[in-house]
Amino acid sequence: MREVAGPQALLDWYDNHARALPWRVGPRDRAAGLRPDPYRVWLSEVMLQQTTVAAVRGYFERFTALWPTVADLAAAEDAQVMGEWAGLGYYARARNLLKCARAVVADHGGCFPDTRDGLMALPGIGPYTAAAIAAIAFDRAEVVVDGNVERVMARLRDIRTPLPAAKPEIREAATRLTPDARPGDYAQAVMDLGATVCTPRSPACGICPWMGGCAARKAGVAADLPAKAPRKAKPLRLGHAYVARRSDGAWLLERRAESGLLGGMLGWPGSDWTETPEPAPPLDAAWHDTGAEARHTFTHFHLRLRVHVAEVAPDAAPARGQFLSPAAFRPSDLPTVMRKVFDLARGAFDTEGQ
Ligand code: SF4
Repeated sequence: MREVAGPQALLDWYDNHARALPWRVGPRDRAAGLRPDPYRVWLSEVMLQQTTVAAVRGYFERFTALWPTVADLAAAEDAQVMGEWAGLGYYARARNLLKCARAVVADHGGCFPDTRDGLMALPGIGPYTAAAIAAIAFDRAEVVVDGNVERVMARLRDIRTPLPAAKPEIREAATRLTPDARPGDYAQAVMDLGATVCTPRSPACGICPWMGGCAARKAGVAADLPAKAPRKAKPLRLGHAYVARRSDGAWLLERRAESGLLGGMLGWPGSDWTETPEPAPPLDAAWHDTGAEARHTFTHFHLRLRVHVAEVAPDAAPARGQFLSPAAFRPSDLPTVMRKVFDLARGAFDTEGQ
């Protein structure tokens, strides 16, 4: 018998309402025998971690135009990949992306493993991503639980335990629902339902294929779930960033150490980021404190970077970093926080020049 809130009801809905996504093979094509390219599924899943579909689309299209196969990406220059990744955040992921592509080529002949365990053995692929790729690319009946799925399950089963403590209960509910037939479509269907119908603030229960069996809707608490434990306030860290422009227009930049936050990315030289940072100009110059602060929030802290600028002579010899000519410097290669610094610095140079 068909359950009111079972997988088949959702798959029927998905057949008509699936989102068209650049990395996706839609239900009609899939039924016709078309299979997704595991490389594109993997790339999209890595990009989508902690980021929205809208933000990822452009990056995904650029990456797949530059590197259409995993072998192309494996052969890419690190700096170019890091530059193209800039703005997506979580830069350790870009480094792991390259490591993973190279491992797939070196150890698996350019083909992604087709099981969850095989995928999890690759760099940068955790349990969620492995399950998602195994389900979507290889139609394995894996349980895929992302933020959207958590929300849908918590509502469907009226799970009121706050997150994260509710995770095991939610996972159990998701496991019971995951079907053996069309698991790849099913995984994407739950994600789509969460993204388009069972949305965080105002779930559109009236058009939901699971309306008839949804416990939270019946109890009138859908919009309040999932419950969340109160968040701890993030600490504030401070720092100084130094933007030097040479008289020929070159900018003083520094590639950050591979390990640590924004590892391997280009940035402006500066101080450590602490509660009481010491000034740390990278060269002797008539530094002007602009008074402006670039504000940015990382996963574990808020950051305010005080922006200092200086015009320097052609023979300036920095203790750190190197000058990049205007032709070699693309502001879009900078991670977001460094781009904010640049925007503020540029404003200060413009004002000074008036
Ligand atoms: S009925 Fe409403 S709350 Fe329940 S799953 Fe559907 S959209 Fe979400």
